Amino acid sequence: MTYLYQEQNWQSQMSDLITSPAELLNILELSVDDLLSGALLASEQFKLRVPRAFVRKMQVGNAFDPLLLQILPHHLELEEHQGFITDPLGEEQANQLPGVLHKYKSRFLLTLTGACAVHCRYCFRRHFPYQENLPKSEDWLKIKDYLEAHPEINEVILSGGDPLTLSNRKLALWIERLTTLNQIKILRIHSRVPIVIPERIDEELVSLLKNSRLRVILVVHSNHPAELDDLTCSKLSQLAKHNILVLNQAVLLKGVNDSAQILVELSHRLFEAQILPYYLHVLDKVKGAHHFDLGTEKINEIYTEVLASLPGYLVPKLVREIAGENNKTPLFGVTTF
Ligand code: SF4
Repeated sequence: MTYLYQEQNWQSQMSDLITSPAELLNILELSVDDLLSGALLASEQFKLRVPRAFVRKMQVGNAFDPLLLQILPHHLELEEHQGFITDPLGEEQANQLPGVLHKYKSRFLLTLTGACAVHCRYCFRRHFPYQENLPKSEDWLKIKDYLEAHPEINEVILSGGDPLTLSNRKLALWIERLTTLNQIKILRIHSRVPIVIPERIDEELVSLLKNSRLRVILVVHSNHPAELDDLTCSKLSQLAKHNILVLNQAVLLKGVNDSAQILVELSHRLFEAQILPYYLHVLDKVKGAHHFDLGTEKINEIYTEVLASLPGYLVPKLVREIAGENNKTPLFGVTTF
């Protein structure tokens, strides 16, 4: 690499994200003009945002690096494709109150921030109107009323944006509020921050999660084994020591992880870090992400090989989320999806 790494806490890394395509390409010693012009155009719609720690995991000089492809804006995002829309999961309909998505019977999604540490180009929420949907502190009473009116809800999922971009103080405040409701037994946190800024797993966060009355599950999002360097694995494996279950969800992406060999390696690497593979999502048909789509046949071919190569506990479930359905839809063996 062309620059030196100095250890930084996660807050300073968050305030020093790369947002300029030219700077990113320069760091990676890529001087492909059409990459830059496409990135500039596409980033007008969904900005480039990536932590320097994640860029350090990329291969210098490789325009097809699988980590780079996930975050570099591309001119193909500007194409229109039939069936690729701004709200592929129908989340605006499930949006009951600011910050609240109630899609599944016993689970309840709470979006406390629209911010992410990284902008993944395939994100199904890339067009989500976060600013109109964030709960303010005074909305807590309405959320509490909603939960009490739905005693079947026993699990709250902090989702994103990315909840681990919030300070530990703010997280603690919301966890404390949820803890006052006896019906809530499980707290799930969906986050990609520990993968892109491993220092986010700091002592204060570990202490907050391990001391909660709630059973805590952290679901991280890693798509490729190159994302899981030693620091990332060591930070995440600390959580297991405190009875915090860590699961991974990945998205199957053309050009990034579209081979059984990569997915098998990902599962093994996760297991070394005491993380279990949970879901392998097929791409949600969000506008701007068509170029990541793999055909049904290719997906089935890859997944068949994954099944044959791994013990069952290391095979993530192949699923699609379908708007309005009561659960994620398992896909293996389905011939059209
Ligand atoms: S971190 Fe998650 S919510 Fe944020 S852009 Fe990536 S996939 Fe979307």
